Amino acid sequence: MNAKNTKIIATVGPASADEATLRALVQAGADVFRLNFSHGSHDDHRAVYQRIRALETAIGRPIGILMDLQGPKLRLGTFAEGGVTLSRRDRIRFDLDRAPGDRRRVGIPHPEIVAAVAPGHVLLVDDGKMRLVVVERGDDWLEMEALTDGRLSDRKGVNVPDVALPLSALTDKDRRDLAFGLELGVDWVALSFVQRPEDLVEARELIGERALLMAKIEKPSALTALDDIIALADGIMVARGDLGVELPAEDVPGLQKRIVRLARCAGKPVVVATQMLESMIGAPAPTRAEASDVATAVFDGADAVMLSAETAAGRYPVEAVDMMTRIITRTEADPLQRQIMEAVGTTPRHTGTDAIGTAIRAVAASLPLSATVAFTASGGTALRIAHQRPRSPILSLTPSLAVARRLTLAWGVRSRRAADAGAVEEMVAVALEHCRREGLTAPGRAVIVTAGVPFGTPGSTNLLRLAWPAGEPA
Ligand code: PGA
Ligand code: MN
Repeated sequence: MNAKNTKIIATVGPASADEATLRALVQAGADVFRLNFSHGSHDDHRAVYQRIRALETAIGRPIGILMDLQGPKLRLGTFAEGGVTLSRRDRIRFDLDRAPGDRRRVGIPHPEIVAAVAPGHVLLVDDGKMRLVVVERGDDWLEMEALTDGRLSDRKGVNVPDVALPLSALTDKDRRDLAFGLELGVDWVALSFVQRPEDLVEARELIGERALLMAKIEKPSALTALDDIIALADGIMVARGDLGVELPAEDVPGLQKRIVRLARCAGKPVVVATQMLESMIGAPAPTRAEASDVATAVFDGADAVMLSAETAAGRYPVEAVDMMTRIITRTEADPLQRQIMEAVGTTPRHTGTDAIGTAIRAVAASLPLSATVAFTASGGTALRIAHQRPRSPILSLTPSLAVARRLTLAWGVRSRRAADAGAVEEMVAVALEHCRREGLTAPGRAVIVTAGVPFGTPGSTNLLRLAWPAGEPA
């Protein structure tokens, strides 16, 4: 458990919100939980948050919590019977009425869609599974005709690829949710439908230092400003669900590789998300294509892979995480994985931290190592070392619980909380003690200890010390 480098983010929902399932997900390999604010009430999220924190205390190591803001995600209203099945050419009216829908009409609580579209425009529902065309528009309704057979059901997502809707990345609901999530103490905030670098600036102003900020790349418009968006974010998510609806499916694989590569070059944690084990929503085993999809993200050196409905609403949440762990572990053991991952060059900056990161690789080439221990105040040292994807595990020690939780998302980092040590020899003793506890010592193998001394000044890594668990070899 927890020996893999690639992390797993599991979305919590009705299928996984209870204490026993949360615990089983962690035991199966979940490192971070996603609270999806597209669903659920504040009370629901608070209860899950508290359960995760209690679990964290019980298992004695940090668990990351990512709050995912809905953003200007457009959704259908609800149906009296949960949904309706339509055949091609069937008509249904979308209106601004909040009453539950039926075979004749359903609410679409977004006046901006009704105002912006015209006959001939296509609306995509449920990640594009259902396509409908506008045949007539009234002041507060759209008469739609199904272009495909399919089903419309409660609160399914709606994409409007034919028109640009005038929407900010932070809705009023997002602002309320964000204030609530920050008050709870989430570690990461994911911003949906980022279109411009300014969207991140706006979110950062509200968040301050209270959490890290992840940009979800799911709009074509974000692709034109990708470098600036990556520079302004703390992490990136390849949000393939909406990305693959707004753009042709055949564009997504190449974009995924490009986004992962750019984020890795910039040293920003990157997450590959959506439909990774989709068929496991209803089946206990994935398709071969899904196994291959998870492995691709691992081959590319992504920091984390994410499960959405598989763990939030599926029948096999624990099996899905377990399967992901098995695919990750097997793929990371493949010598080809390292070769492919290392094809993305890292560009060390001219800083002490990166010089030490480079030195760790050099040491690893000439000495058998069992771990690198990074004492980190802000998390920066651990992230920069992870950026270089060293072969031996990274044990990150920080006095800050908030920092320890944030780092659970980063490739290869075993994040733990530990008090700062005073002198260097005390630090070595603390590092070795933590390595022993984590099973990270081995006879004849050295441990690298890095830190910025004196302690407590972020971004000042200046020390690399070699230590052997049983004393220096003769
Ligand atoms: P969502 O984001 O699950 O919040 O829609 C992920 C995606 O679009 O892939
Ligand atoms: Mn999305």
